[in-house]
Amino acid sequence: MLERIRIVLIGTSHPGNIGATARAMHNMGLSDLALVAPRCEPLTADSISRASGADHLVHAARMHDSLDAAVADCTLAVGASARSRTLPWPMIAPRELGARLPAELADAEGRVALVFGREDSGLSNAELQRCHAHVHIPTNPDFSSLNLAAAVQVLAYECRLAWQAQRETPDGTDEGTGQPLASHAELEHYFAHLERTLIAIGFHDPATPRQLMARLRRFTLRARPERQELNILRGILTATEQQAATRQGDAAEE
Ligand code: SAH
Repeated sequence: MLERIRIVLIGTSHPGNIGATARAMHNMGLSDLALVAPRCEPLTADSISRASGADHLVHAARMHDSLDAAVADCTLAVGASARSRTLPWPMIAPRELGARLPAELADAEGRVALVFGREDSGLSNAELQRCHAHVHIPTNPDFSSLNLAAAVQVLAYECRLAWQAQRETPDGTDEGTGQPLASHAELEHYFAHLERTLIAIGFHDPATPRQLMARLRRFTLRARPERQELNILRGILTATEQQAATRQGDAAEE
């Protein structure tokens, strides 16, 4: 279970935080580290020193240009953030996240990403809106932002607790239907298709978006669609696009 949990760091600017993240992960038995557009050299004397013997994780880290690429194969992406947002996203507590992991990872295709933001500005709304849920580590409300590697440590610890609990009671954790869930990449293709179709039928005007796509994203991600269900929705979009094109053709002829 632990090897299918990925820690994703976006735009990290301090090599020491990357090393300290590797240490926190290795302490808890996690090994999959992905770096999205880091703003520093990941392997420096500082990062190696802060990794304290876990720098092999930094050597093995995969580099990506975008969050989408880093989590394309993940069936659940959770964004860690200290701040609440104007369009609230489904929130889960760290313990709740741990409790969900055995079921999420029961299927061999299940893969979970925990996504962390920049030291100075955290995760953007657009990044958070690409995640199924938002995890907040409870803190002093007047001083809520943890050091990046400390935040990784807390969530990695919850992953470990959940893994240990599951080893003790391996049965009864899979509440799913047994059908594979849609991956991040499949969901993003769906959202792009949905937006194209809504524009084509005149329902959505990208010039005045009014958070329509963000709200539809939140609704869809909350439902955790299976791959098969998403295929049905895409089939509906394709039929809608065809109908719209036929009608436009008819109107042009009239
Ligand atoms: N100044 C930033 C916070 C940066 S801390 C801001 O205003 O958002 C770096 C990262 O650590 C955050 O992006 C988040 O992923 C994680 N983090 C820090 N404190 C956290 C908390 N209380 N709960 C969840 N994640 C947290």
